[in-house]
Order: sequence, then C-alpha cells, then structure tokens
Amino acid sequence: MDIRMAGTVNDSIVDGPGIRLAIFVQGCTHHCKGCQNPQTWDPDGGSIMTTDHVIDAMKSNRLLKGITFSGGEPFEQPTPLIELAKACHSLGKDVWAYSGYTYEELESGKAGADARELLENCDVLVDGPFIESEKSMDLKWRGSRNQRLIDVPKSLETGSVVEYVYKWI
Ligand code: SF4
Repeated sequence: MDIRMAGTVNDSIVDGPGIRLAIFVQGCTHHCKGCQNPQTWDPDGGSIMTTDHVIDAMKSNRLLKGITFSGGEPFEQPTPLIELAKACHSLGKDVWAYSGYTYEELESGKAGADARELLENCDVLVDGPFIESEKSMDLKWRGSRNQRLIDVPKSLETGSVVEYVYKWI
C-alpha cells in the first residue's frame, strides 16, 4: 500500500521513549501558526513510499522500542498507517502518534471512521494542534501545553481521557 511521506528517521530518541522509527507523513490541513514542519503541509509534496518498505525498516532494526507517526497529519492518511500499526504490534513493539486533532475529535469519529480505527491501533496519542502562545521548552515529547500525552487503550476502555505516564526503569 502506498503512503505519502515527508521522510523517516530510523533511530529517533526524541519522538517517544526508547529508540524509535519516526515516520513523518506528508500533508497537513491544520496549518498551526509556528509549526516547525510547514514543508509537510502540501498534500502533493514529499514522495510515495510503500508500507512494505517501512515494515522492512521496522524488522531490520531489532533495537526499536516502537514506531511514531508524526508529520504532517498522520490521521489524514489512516489506512496505510493502520497497516503499519498492526505490523508493529505483531513485532511486539509499541505505536505512538502525533496529531493536530484532539483525542475527542478522533474518538468521536469527527475526523472520520478510518481515523478512529487508526486511534484504536495506537498506544499513545500526543494530541491537539501546536499553539504558539502555549509553547514551552520544558515539555517532554510535546511542543505546547495544550497537547496531552494520552494512554489510548485505557482511555477507550474507560470512556474518558487517561494521561500516559512513562515509567523510567
Ligand atoms: S498539526 Fe503538526 S504538522 Fe500540522 S501544522 Fe500543526 S504542528 Fe504542523
């Protein structure tokens, strides 16, 4: 399956815990003021990659703790990312996703049924648009204070947002 990509980083240590394969998708309609990756907005930019190629990259790096979907807006290309998330879980690794949509928008289906399905295949969601006036350099894995680290399985199970807490070992 094809996916429009801005790029990948094989050994990221800044897009979630551990060593991660960061997948930056191309295309984003949020256009947040102060976005650090405006080159990823154009839905016709970037390049086409296959999900098989990304899955091979996952399999070839045995040190990976997981993958992280970033962008761009991952939830605007949910179908290939659902395939990647399932492949990642089948390898025993975890799935993080960044989104300019809020958890509530994704969970309610407002962003589309496929986006809701992608949410169901994520372990942690970093949600909401980047808001320049809320920007802080003190936040781990987030750019602005409005964004939340959300434990997706627990949130779906309980019906309300459960914050993700990383346990350092
Ligand atoms: S959602 Fe992310 S990629 Fe899209 S404009 Fe906002 S900060 Fe940039």
